[in-house]
Amino acid sequence: MEDLKKKIEEIEINALKEIENVIDFKKLTELKIKYLGKKSELFSISKQIGNFEKEERKEVGEIVNKTSEKLKLQFDLNFKKIKKIELEKKLQNEKVDITLPGEEVEIGKLHPLTQILNKITEIFISLGFLVVKGPEIETDYYNFEALNIPKNHPARDTQDTFYVEENLLLRTQTSPVQIRIMEKTKPPIKIISPGRVYRADSIDATHSPVFNQVEGLLVDEKITMANLKATLEIFIKKLCNKDVKTRFRPHHFPFTEPSAEMDIECFKCGGKGCSLCKNEGFIEILGCGMVHPKVLENCNINPSNFSGFAFGLGLERIAMLFYDIKDLRLFYENNLKFLKQF
Ligand SMILES: [Zn+2]
Repeated sequence: MEDLKKKIEEIEINALKEIENVIDFKKLTELKIKYLGKKSELFSISKQIGNFEKEERKEVGEIVNKTSEKLKLQFDLNFKKIKKIELEKKLQNEKVDITLPGEEVEIGKLHPLTQILNKITEIFISLGFLVVKGPEIETDYYNFEALNIPKNHPARDTQDTFYVEENLLLRTQTSPVQIRIMEKTKPPIKIISPGRVYRADSIDATHSPVFNQVEGLLVDEKITMANLKATLEIFIKKLCNKDVKTRFRPHHFPFTEPSAEMDIECFKCGGKGCSLCKNEGFIEILGCGMVHPKVLENCNINPSNFSGFAFGLGLERIAMLFYDIKDLRLFYENNLKFLKQF
């Protein structure tokens, strides 16, 4: 009996000694099995307890329990120690050095075409115009007929487009929006309509099958060419941020009468003549005119009571002029080197 007690004591001392400095998870697990597992000495002793007398059974049982509790406690302590060390190691590895320079986040910006469009839109909003949009797939009627371009009209040749069906096509201009608005709204009407338009052109430095237009329309009583000129001159001044000489050249559009093209003094040479203006001193900037009475009639607006003007400009063209870009394709290639310049 005394021998047994001594043996348990020895087991305890040896075990504690062996466990004490073990901070390796695998090793500690092995030791736990060795001292507390089913093949351990302590376990085999506890199994023999049944053979003892009642008093002894109690005494030995208590000693065995105490020892295994002590050992369990020591194992727990060491396992906790291991966990703590591992956590510290992890934190050390993931430590953030706040003195290191931060990773630079690249901030994007608006596409040059969007920048120009925003500028144009802001100017017309400040002049009291509403911004409206129309469908890009149009009927033949809205894109041509209602705009005074009947079938077989030569203007259709220059605007050959992509047909979806016989009477359904990708709009060649933003002008159909004029018709849609005039059909629904009584004058006064004051709108601009930006958007994509389509032509059956091959892509090159100055042509693209898809490009952007901004259309403008004003219809009210007693609107004259003077209103048209004044409005567009204010627009150009605001767009260029300075006084710019303009000139209006007679032109022909089927949906306006009279029609004109507006030129502005070349901002590169100041009118002296250069490669940009092809020595003209002026640059064509947009097309405009007084809304054709037939177009008003098509929308049930009486041309004896109302008149109006309309204009249309190519967004890419304006952007090319202002940013001195020679090739239209650059706008669509999404080359960051190019886009970052604006
Ligand atoms: Zn010039």
